[in-house]
Amino acid sequence: MDRRASGIVTHEPEGGVLYLVGTPIGHRGDLSPRARQVLAGVACIGCEDTRHSGPLLQAFGIRTPLLSFHQHNSRERLPGLLQRLAAGEALALISDAGLPGISDPGEDLVAAVRAAGGRVVCVPGPCAALTALVCSGLPCERFCFEGFLPSRGRERRERLQILAQEPRTSVLYEAPHRLRQLLNELHDACGPDRPLQVARELTKRHEQLVGPDVATALAHFNDHNPQGEFTLVLGGAPPPAPVAWDGAALRTQLQELLDAGSPPADACRLLARRTGQPRRALYALLHADTENSDTDPPDGTLEPSPPGA
Ligand code: SAM
Repeated sequence: MDRRASGIVTHEPEGGVLYLVGTPIGHRGDLSPRARQVLAGVACIGCEDTRHSGPLLQAFGIRTPLLSFHQHNSRERLPGLLQRLAAGEALALISDAGLPGISDPGEDLVAAVRAAGGRVVCVPGPCAALTALVCSGLPCERFCFEGFLPSRGRERRERLQILAQEPRTSVLYEAPHRLRQLLNELHDACGPDRPLQVARELTKRHEQLVGPDVATALAHFNDHNPQGEFTLVLGGAPPPAPVAWDGAALRTQLQELLDAGSPPADACRLLARRTGQPRRALYALLHADTENSDTDPPDGTLEPSPPGA
């Protein structure tokens, strides 16, 4: 391989650095040349399950020793890994699939290395959440990542309620045996028409997106047993419906502010902030009042009030 042409940074891996390496979420061709170089060159690779990562690495001729690092042993493994880094070894961390640290172990190790003044470098790779998001057709400009919801009880119900009101696109992970339950819960919390794409088996042979809304996805998976891996991309809550102008209520509030001693400009600014209404519309209302007019302001509709206004 021509390393310069492939863009590989030839000095990698460097001693004393922890590399977080993204690995395929299905398609083995997604393991990047840089990832391979780093994984082949480090002293040791921390992975969730050696039986899972072993075959992937073998397929690329990578013979680096593996060390299991998962949620049940990460605490006891931490001091040893920190020592090895401090001694100048280059180490890598991978997860079963995708990016370590995203609904996978890694966060604690990264925090500990950083706290100890060490270097952490990410060799980016596939992530199911972002892969599903960008091919969902739903707004990607602003989004939030929910990962797995709490498995049961009040915490789960509360998270679903928050999710139902979230205006940004949300991305969730779910296990196949819980998918139908989650779709039923989304149906109840967000309604049947909420945009939804259920991404199944991304980057694999049976990759599929099922949507475009909660009702359609629910009907589909009531007919088809959910099998494989699933990431859900849920459209944001629609903006609140516009409120009809209520000139009388606004006048009352303006008058209260004036009576309390606010100069007209301050009263309009305050009320604009409080109600989400355009300041110029409130000025017009005030102006109409000073001319003893009881007509409503010219715009005819109010902007929707911001939450908590
Ligand atoms: N760290 C991983 C990442 O960066 O995407 C996520 C790990 S999390 C433990 C595993 C979950 O990711 C699965 O239960 C599923 O919800 C989602 N997932 C992983 N691979 C997927 C795929 N090929 N298609 C759809 N979802 C996938």
